[in-house]
Amino acid sequence: MSDSNASTVDLDALASLAKRRGFIFQSSEIYGGIASTWDYGPLGAELKRNIKDAWWRKFVWERDDMVGLDSSILMNPEVWRASGHVDSFTDPLVDCRECRQRWREDHLEERNCPDCGGALTEARNFNLMFKTFIGPVEDDTSVAFLRPETAQGIFVNFENVLNSSRKRLPFGIAQIGKAFRNEITTGGFIFRTREFEIMEIEYFVEPGTDEEIHEQWIQDCLAWYTDLGVSKKRLRVRPHDADELSHYAKATYDIEYLFPWGWGEIQGIANRTDFDLKAHSERSGHGLTYFDQPSNSRFTPYVVEPSAGVDRAAMTFLVDAYTEEEAPTASGGTQKRVVMKLHPAIAPVKVAILPLSRNERLVPLAREVYDKVRSSGAVDGFVQYDDAQSIGRRYRRQDEIGTPLCITVDFESLDDNAVTIRDRDTMEQARIPIALLDAELGKRLRV
Ligand code: ATP
Repeated sequence: MSDSNASTVDLDALASLAKRRGFIFQSSEIYGGIASTWDYGPLGAELKRNIKDAWWRKFVWERDDMVGLDSSILMNPEVWRASGHVDSFTDPLVDCRECRQRWREDHLEERNCPDCGGALTEARNFNLMFKTFIGPVEDDTSVAFLRPETAQGIFVNFENVLNSSRKRLPFGIAQIGKAFRNEITTGGFIFRTREFEIMEIEYFVEPGTDEEIHEQWIQDCLAWYTDLGVSKKRLRVRPHDADELSHYAKATYDIEYLFPWGWGEIQGIANRTDFDLKAHSERSGHGLTYFDQPSNSRFTPYVVEPSAGVDRAAMTFLVDAYTEEEAPTASGGTQKRVVMKLHPAIAPVKVAILPLSRNERLVPLAREVYDKVRSSGAVDGFVQYDDAQSIGRRYRRQDEIGTPLCITVDFESLDDNAVTIRDRDTMEQARIPIALLDAELGKRLRV
């Protein structure tokens, strides 16, 4: 990758930090792990939760044309026949005739094995849906699939949501949940896994208005990443070529991020037309249409679908925020500082309370400040109390995990009822009366 804007983060360094600090662990590690499957530790769980909350806030709560849904992972298999997934949700699979390694043909630049140079077999279509069985008998009648997208749960509930929420077009249904794809090749840490989480919107519109609304969604989705601090120069929007389009799409745009290994899709925004609602109407015999009162007409809405991976968003935020810089030391020299410059809305720990020492005179006041900050309406998230090791090491630890603000309680605090607030990015310290802490935190965390 020669692009000078590409992130230069060493993925091994990032994965090692992620493990050491409790962001991401290898799944089932004590048994040797399982390929490309990851668990989110205490900080990773906070990070993911913050990502999902920020997304829900922007796309559901802050709009008046959106409602939410939480549909099940297992669905009637007819859903996947109607949607085309049983027939068409496939990737072209090729095997190396020499080393037996498997590849996705559309990811290869040459017609030979990238590992050993061996000849490859002809491509055959491999269905990405995980199959399972419902009930004790494993036969054709009990087959079920783990959903590869949450969208179908939205389509089959279109009428339920329409009737219960009484929304008028254009309106959207948002859903966040797990999806599963039996990917042929995985990798890039949490970039491509077989189990992942997805944040999806099906936005229903009147046919004819779809292209303009599609364009608006691309801009709104892009703004979500940049508002949360992702560097603009590492983001781009790429239209799908005709031969790349999914079986249901009229047009699709990917939002891509420039990872250390090159551009990678973090979100797709597709115009799915009326494909899904029509397909379900036909197969189920239950018409999924919309009655437009002003024009006294009934039609099948078109759908614009922004679909973003939670894990790919987490990867983007981590890679983009990871910074190594020279920082001054107390003795006048410099040292390397690793700092995760996460937006405060995303940072897993919002504020850390650091008593200067475990001195018994300090602890009660530090605990009081901790309680006050935790219950403060100004801090919407996790607050940590950290009294282990020297204050310098604690600042370094909090920098590494991206905590925007550290509050130090020292001996002076006992007399002046004030604490020191340290800013992660500027490392500037300010003395703030405890009584004014609420307002100060609110101001600093609402960037
Ligand atoms: P790709 O071309 O990378 O396989 P896709 O085009 O199949 O992805 P979509 O069907 O558009 O992906 O899925 C929507 C979003 O879900 C993607 O933009 C991505 O953020 C996320 N996603 C898809 N597959 C995976 C995966 N295997 N692991 C993690 N996230 C994924």
